[in-house]
Amino acid sequence: MSTLRETLLEELSDILDAEKQIIKALPKMTKAAEHEDLKRAFEMHLEETEGQVERLERIFELMGENSRSKKCKGIQGIIKEGEEMIKEDLGDAGLIASAQKVEHYEIASYGSVHSWARLLGEDEVADLLEETLDEEESTDEKLTQIAESAVNAEEKDEEEGEKVHAKNRGK
Ligand code: FE
Ligand code: FE
Repeated sequence: MSTLRETLLEELSDILDAEKQIIKALPKMTKAAEHEDLKRAFEMHLEETEGQVERLERIFELMGENSRSKKCKGIQGIIKEGEEMIKEDLGDAGLIASAQKVEHYEIASYGSVHSWARLLGEDEVADLLEETLDEEESTDEKLTQIAESAVNAEEKDEEEGEKVHAKNRGK
């Protein structure tokens, strides 16, 4: 059986690959987004994600290991679904849903590696992982806010507009 340290290194390689896939996907999502707030949120998170990759490389260094990445199939699947949403033109609501799946996946992964690093007494590593975990959580919250305020408000307006039309036609 592997040691917790080996498990931590394996999971870190998985996350490093996930972050790299996300860096490739975010510009496409920015381009597909309609609402300015959503575009800006994706752009900002791209910058953050680049910092997260640097943080992971620093973590491997702190642990005395070469940084390595291992194909993350989980995030690959989520990103693929997101690309389908874009193709099917499911709008900002669809984009937000798929971006939140990515963030939730990351939150789960960073939550685990963060607690393992603490258990192993790798406090500097754990602190760095906690910084990223905080960024993923705030991104998730921001996406919820955008969905509730901007995007849904617009869709509601459209639907109510249609209801009024239908009512007027009925008279
Ligand atoms: Fe990330
Ligand atoms: Fe993220």
